[in-house]
Amino acid sequence: MRTSTRANFASLYMDKFLSLENIYNKANVKGAKTEIEDAMVDMYRHTTFGLNPAASSIDTPLHGLIPFRQVDHMHPVSAIAIAASKDQEALTQDVFGDDVGWVPWQRPGFDLGLAMQEKVKQQPNLKGLIMGQHGLINWADDDKTCYELTLTLIEKAARFIEQMDKGDKTFGGQKYAALDSTTRDELLVKLLPKLRGLVSPVNRFIGTVQITDRVLEFVNSVDAPRLAEIGTSCPDHFLRTKIKPLYVDWDPQHESESTLLEKLESGLAHYRADYTAYYEACKRPNSPAMRDPNPTVILIPGLGLIAWGKNKSESRVTAEFYSLAIDVMRAAESISEYQGLPRQEAFDIEYWLLEEAKLKRMPPEKELARNIVVVIGAGSGIGKATALRVAKEGAHVVCADLSEASAQQTAQELIKTYGVGIGVAGTGLSGCGPALGLGVDITNRASMQAMLNQVVLAYGGFDNVIVTAGIFVSPDKTGHIPDDKWSLTYAINVMGSYIVADEAKKIWQVQGLKGSLVLTTSVNAAVAKPGSLAYDTSKAAANHLVRELAIELAPLVRVNGLAPATVVEGSSMFPRERVISSLHKYHVPFDDSESTEALREKLAHFYAQRTLTKAPVTLADQAEIAYLLSSSKFSKTTGQIISVDGGLHEAFLR
Ligand SMILES: [Zn+2]
Repeated sequence: MRTSTRANFASLYMDKFLSLENIYNKANVKGAKTEIEDAMVDMYRHTTFGLNPAASSIDTPLHGLIPFRQVDHMHPVSAIAIAASKDQEALTQDVFGDDVGWVPWQRPGFDLGLAMQEKVKQQPNLKGLIMGQHGLINWADDDKTCYELTLTLIEKAARFIEQMDKGDKTFGGQKYAALDSTTRDELLVKLLPKLRGLVSPVNRFIGTVQITDRVLEFVNSVDAPRLAEIGTSCPDHFLRTKIKPLYVDWDPQHESESTLLEKLESGLAHYRADYTAYYEACKRPNSPAMRDPNPTVILIPGLGLIAWGKNKSESRVTAEFYSLAIDVMRAAESISEYQGLPRQEAFDIEYWLLEEAKLKRMPPEKELARNIVVVIGAGSGIGKATALRVAKEGAHVVCADLSEASAQQTAQELIKTYGVGIGVAGTGLSGCGPALGLGVDITNRASMQAMLNQVVLAYGGFDNVIVTAGIFVSPDKTGHIPDDKWSLTYAINVMGSYIVADEAKKIWQVQGLKGSLVLTTSVNAAVAKPGSLAYDTSKAAANHLVRELAIELAPLVRVNGLAPATVVEGSSMFPRERVISSLHKYHVPFDDSESTEALREKLAHFYAQRTLTKAPVTLADQAEIAYLLSSSKFSKTTGQIISVDGGLHEAFLR
């Protein structure tokens, strides 16, 4: 609801919608899951009001066939808890008396709508219904009364549950203790990349860690393995969480990390086999092909919950939904016994042809969807342009820079453009959106490590690293730069890139997924000229570093170099003094009163005239190649340097 707008809601003419009942009734075979029931969904389009293109929900008849002006349908924890209890019908009576009726589970559709309509006809005093294994629906003659009724019913159920809470005995009591937060984060940093690699053999996933007291109480409990196996009950939840999570039976107090890894690997293998068996047992002749058999929720005693999704928003929603499922189980086990949906019913929702059609209607995923790209130097210039470019291709972007503030500014710009997503879960950094701004000093190994650890905690790992950070120290008038500036130039332009690669390598290897590294060198690496000895030789070393790293990181990670030249536009490498000194050097006439941007333009124009293509080289030109080298379009290219210099024949590599 936080992100919903008018565009998310369908609108239908009620009289036209109600006339569809005649069509439904004419069918020879009708009822739940019959051909006519699915066919009705397409007919809702004929009843559209105001040419509204928003598609009607499959719940449309549940709302439309109830003869009241306002109908609310919700999946609140307290109502699902009653709906997912063994004695749901009796409990509905206990909690709500004669105000609320009960209908057994049935897949949403026209037939369920008619059954609910019939119920209202028989008991005209009903204000609502508990829908078995599903949720709550209630109605009134105006919206405010209905809204207040919704809140009252949810509260009533919650108070009933509260007074039967089992306290320390919840979930059969605690079997394990939670790890302290330092130990936990250290373990997560080691575990998450490994886990990401293990769950991503079919599709890459983005992770979200959810560690709340309620989650810990569940994963550490005696009953967790039994309840996890029953699975998520509400169909609206399990489309994201899958029918059940993977619970790893690890003793955080007495077993080692290596035991945890072994148990995770065997647990995943078992989960996939189990999912395949479920698919085979429940499939129908026209069922869609089996989908990714990997779990989207993993529960680990002592640690918490780790959710996976195709993007950050989805993985946060998944984490949130399973957290809610835990609350549902807690409540249901307090008042009765928690009960899951029969597997065949779950299957008929998960592999519903209407659901499949919805998936097929989704636009194809973008080139860098499901990828996490770390851009180092993202606070300004080529780095910032690159961060914006890869985000356009669906990447999650970690904007890193020596200046944490400027890194966060770029990240904020991205979040403003792409939104933070609909989920509200995620502990600490893991609650982030599709972009994150972090500070890093690449000349300092500890700083680099700390930054990548944060990336792991936020997203579960990373795929591509692009380094645009670099330094150009202007020489004095005789072309000389002092020794300490030589050291600094090499520390950033050569050693810094090496430290990035060396630290990233450790995580790439644990993750075991293909990745790419792009280093920014310079055409100066190949062109000898007076006045920039330290910079030019450092970039020549960086060129060879690309080739050495390509060999060292093969076959897992491709390493390529981007060699820009004379990007003057918005570059932090070209402050006013450097622009003026260059204009002097090349005898380009200018006036001191001109703005820095005007002077930069003059210099850019001068540089352009020296090139074969005669056009200024822009930040966007550089960002395009940084993106392409990271993408699958260059999947067979490694150890190469691509010049983006407008065509400087002196810089041709031989
Ligand atoms: Zn529903």
